[in-house]
Amino acid sequence: MTTRYIDAGVNLTSSQFDDARDDIVMRAKQAGVDNMLLIGTNTQDSMHCLQLARHYGFVCTSGIHPHDAKSTQADYIAQLKTLFLHPEVVAVGECGLDFNRNFSPRSEQISVLSQQLELAEQNNLPVYLHERDAFDAMRAQLEQVKVHGVLHCFTGDKHALDFYLHYGLMIGITGWVCDERRGAQLQQLVPLIPDDRLLIETDAPYLLPRTLKPKPKSRRNEPAFVEAIVREVARLRGQSCEHVAKISHANFQRLFITRRGTQ
Ligand SMILES: [Zn+2]
Repeated sequence: MTTRYIDAGVNLTSSQFDDARDDIVMRAKQAGVDNMLLIGTNTQDSMHCLQLARHYGFVCTSGIHPHDAKSTQADYIAQLKTLFLHPEVVAVGECGLDFNRNFSPRSEQISVLSQQLELAEQNNLPVYLHERDAFDAMRAQLEQVKVHGVLHCFTGDKHALDFYLHYGLMIGITGWVCDERRGAQLQQLVPLIPDDRLLIETDAPYLLPRTLKPKPKSRRNEPAFVEAIVREVARLRGQSCEHVAKISHANFQRLFITRRGTQ
């Protein structure tokens, strides 16, 4: 039997996919990718994600990315609540803090994150969290609520990993781990993630796995390449690719699909 995959984070609305979205999805299905989580970054983009999720039979998030925190409309929480009425919308996000690029002022990032965490807590929805160089502020926000979900594209240190695991979050691993220089610290930490907390995501079209051979001329990442990340994670954990694909698949179902269905 061929290995079945999920991709726990795809930016399918990206304009980089405009010329090839059907092909990208077809190649993913041919590569064994059963489901993907399409990531919304603001209210309008989240509506686009919902359309794509319905069209292709996937699931999606609705939320405000920290980069977009500065341009929210006054009624964005009401707009998000409306989006959550649709069964395809399974998580709040992408929300979080990015103190690396600071495309929105930090104070606005924090207030927009805090409102989305409350929304998730009140409606018992998982969160899809982004944190870059902002661990202390993220911890302070998480400690004020009790939410479940995933810390996507984890790139932090052991201290951060310990906190996120202790808090109860799943850990999203991207092709960052396939970079022997930038991903060196992450390669050390990946074996410490329990089987029931690991999610594999491409973050396509970003973060093309450096271990991928041959590399596409476009340098554009896509969900069909999730297998390259699974292979590297399996190598680091001393597990088979089938096992890593299976646990990521099971965790995806438990976090985004089953729970949503039993509310
Ligand atoms: Zn992100």
